This record gives sequence, structure tokens and C-alpha cells, in this order.
Amino acid sequence: MPKSIRAAVCAGHGAAPVIETLLLDDPLPDEMIITVKAAAICHTDLGISEWSDSPRVFGHEGAGIVLQTGSAIEKFQVGDRVAATFGFCGQCRNCKDAHPAYCFDNINLNIEGQRARPALSRPDGEIIGGAFFQQSTFASHALVTERNAIAIPETLDFVTAAPLGCGIQTGAGAIINNFSATAGRPLLVIGCGAVGLSAIMAAKIIGCAPIIASDIHSHRTALATQYGADMIVDSADIEFAAKIIAATNGGVSYALDTAGSQQTFETAMACLHPGGNLGILTIPGAFEDSVPHPGGLPFMTTTMTGIIEGDSVPDQFIPWLIEQHQQGRLPYDELITTFPFEDIANAFDAQRSGAAIKPVLTF
Ligand SMILES: [Zn+2]
Ligand SMILES: [Zn+2]
Repeated sequence: MPKSIRAAVCAGHGAAPVIETLLLDDPLPDEMIITVKAAAICHTDLGISEWSDSPRVFGHEGAGIVLQTGSAIEKFQVGDRVAATFGFCGQCRNCKDAHPAYCFDNINLNIEGQRARPALSRPDGEIIGGAFFQQSTFASHALVTERNAIAIPETLDFVTAAPLGCGIQTGAGAIINNFSATAGRPLLVIGCGAVGLSAIMAAKIIGCAPIIASDIHSHRTALATQYGADMIVDSADIEFAAKIIAATNGGVSYALDTAGSQQTFETAMACLHPGGNLGILTIPGAFEDSVPHPGGLPFMTTTMTGIIEGDSVPDQFIPWLIEQHQQGRLPYDELITTFPFEDIANAFDAQRSGAAIKPVLTF
């Protein structure tokens, strides 16, 4: 029987989330219902809410307690504490080859929220878009699959657990999994939000050197320094690339562009030494009028990587991130600002304006 829940519905075209009562479908055999205890907000929630033209419930960094399990669930029991991450099919070539973030069905399962039956509806029967990243956790309760739920230890509170599911693993995973970064190699991170700062923390763990950071906000570059950046370059500096090439004796091995504008994309490319790896998180200029020029990748840049969830195998990588956090090497919890679920519209604004680096809703 569908369950009555409270959920934050975004009407579409960037409309602010409004909390209302919805019905949540019964779990399919490989799904379970969790009682959401915390849900972090990521840039993707805002970006897709602006792009969508129908009412949907977002939220893809949720954490909570298993309330009900589908008939085929083997990994979890009612009462287990879990963090939810991105969805993947588990069957395609990339899923079987330990690259579930590059699941052939990624867009359908995550951005589109595809599910065998609609997950959410209004009491009058109107379908509301659910299963965003196979979770839609801006709600009191959510359906997650067994694959995208990760057990978390008793020693980790839900607020700290929530951002692991996307932002933190994307930043840290970019360095560790996508780049396979090694000690002593120089790294540039453009954009010091939750993803960029997590990348810097991970680069510090690995021993990349020097770690160079840039952001248009000085309070964020101050955080970059606090978490391991050796050098800050002003994003408006017209000698940006020249200074970095000089400081690294030829350019950086890895450049992570978390900002995603045409300008930051070109700047990041210009800072790489031959054979360097450029990591991008969005299509450059995707939300601008400009179009990336197809010849933009120089011949000598051997790799450009689309960073999706840091190429994480969540069952293995999230426990590793928790271990690093608990040993004090990944203090991403310091980036969190909590908001009561009822204040979700303010939390969206704080994420959009940059006033909060990682807003987390509490229930
Ligand atoms: Zn797959
Ligand atoms: Zn995200």
C-alpha cells in the first residue's frame, strides 16, 4: 500500500521547492524504503530543477534508516543505517567492469529518475517525478535500490554521511580513481566548492605537489589553503597559466575544472603539461550561450575525462572515504551548514548564492 510522506516538490523551471504530502509507491523486489534523516544539496539538484518542466522531487545525497525491504533484498535489514548514492543497473559492461558511475543507463536512472512504476504521486493521483538518482531524498521517506544504498557505521552521524553519496566522492574520486593521481605530481583545481575542496583534501592524502587552487571567492581559496593547497592563483590574473607553468616547471599533470565555463575550461587546458589529464564536471559552457570549440583539446593533451561520481565503486570507495574522515584526513564535515527540512527553499538559495558550501537538510 502506498505510503503517505512529506516531500519537497519543485514545480519546474527553477521554481522553489514546496513541501507537500505525497504517496510513495511500495518497494519493488530490489528496493527498500528508508526513513530519511539527512539530505545534502548538490549543484545538480538546482541545475536539473531549472531545466525540468514538470513537478519533481530532487535530492540525491540522502542518509537514513531502512524502514521496509523489497522481497529480493539480501544486503540490508530493517533498522540498518545507510547513505544513498547514484543509481546504476549492475548489468551493463561498465557496471560489470567496476565503473558503475559510467553505467550505460546513467542518465535514465539518475537524471531522468526512470523506474518500472512511478515512485511518487499526489493524493489525487497526479504523478510527480521521483526516483531522482534512484532516491529523491528531499522527502521524509524515499525508495532506494539495494545497489545504491551503502551501509554506514554507528560512529558516523547522518548529517556527515549524507554528502558522501555524490559531492565528496566526486571530488575525491576524481583525484584517486579518474586521475589515479600519484605523489609529487602537480594538480590544479579550479572552483573550490564541495567538489573542489574534496579533491584538494584527497590530493593532500595522495601527496600531489604542488596543489594549486583558484576560485572567484576569496573565502573559498582561504579554505583551499586550509585543506592543503600550496598555491592560490587569482582567477582574474591575466598571467594565470604562465604563473602556474612557471611554478610547476612546465605545467600541471592534472587539472580539475569544477566551474565548467568556457573560460575555466580553456584556462585549465592551458595549464597542463604535455600528456596531462583534464577533468571536467560539466560540458564547458553548458549553461551559457557559448559553444565549446571542437578543436579545443590540444594534440599534446592525451586525456580529457568527464568526471562522473569520481568513477567510484560506492561499496568500496565510500567506506574508504569514511575511514579517511574518521582519521582526520578528510574533514569535509567542516563544509556543512545544516537547515531544517522545512527551510529547504532557503537552503536552495544558500547553495545557489554560495553562502553555504554544502547545505544539509535535517529531518
Ligand atoms: Zn550499468
Ligand atoms: Zn551531486
